Amino acid sequence: MQDDWRQIKEQVRRDQEAFDRHSARLLEALTRRGVAVYCRRGCRKCCTLTVNATFVEALGIAQCLTPEQGAAVATHASRLSEIASAAKDFKEYLRTCRTHLGFCPLLDADGACGIYPVRPFACRALLSTRDSDWCAVDFSCLHPAEKQAFMSGLDPSVVAFPTHYVAAAQDLGREFEERTAAAMIKRFGFSLRGNLSFLISLEQQLGVSELVPQGLEVTRRALIRAGFDLPFVVHMESLGA
Ligand code: SF4
Repeated sequence: MQDDWRQIKEQVRRDQEAFDRHSARLLEALTRRGVAVYCRRGCRKCCTLTVNATFVEALGIAQCLTPEQGAAVATHASRLSEIASAAKDFKEYLRTCRTHLGFCPLLDADGACGIYPVRPFACRALLSTRDSDWCAVDFSCLHPAEKQAFMSGLDPSVVAFPTHYVAAAQDLGREFEERTAAAMIKRFGFSLRGNLSFLISLEQQLGVSELVPQGLEVTRRALIRAGFDLPFVVHMESLGA
């Protein structure tokens, strides 16, 4: 069982390195085109977004947290569960997370990612073509004229329109995340994905890495018993689904 996880986590580690090499080449190409990318150490505004990941990525992170980081994640995940349980729909869940949850619990006091070398593909894939203040904007609250001005300044050949994030980096992130989920399906018959903090807390509270090799139904039943089968927050995908 440990060997299964060791191999799959090693694949993720290699893929993260490959992603970073692709991303560096992409940044060079954007610079040659005169496209500015504003992401800098400590700019952190995108860390108010809901971060999703595969369980494999979350497991790798869970195993290298300090006790303080672990406690911060547990608190965050518990508040997230309350929000997900109370939300009427996915939109409300996302909006309430953004307004009530605050920053990712893995953010350091100096505004840098506290787990930078092992951060998930979803975080690696966010390259901002606007000042970081735009990463914190809730567009549903923006005046239509401001929204229009923002969108008309975007280059649709670069960004994942109507966002200001580089499309090619997002595509790459999705591709690597799919590879990770596919590796999990191949090894265990199903994949587990969802909110990063929530997945880490599943490992902390239920030891999900011990349940997954016993199959989808065993894992699903354990989540249901614990009240953790929250559809906005955690998803399972099996072979042929
Ligand atoms: S994992 Fe790191 S980069 Fe991603 S949201 Fe959290 S602090 Fe930010």
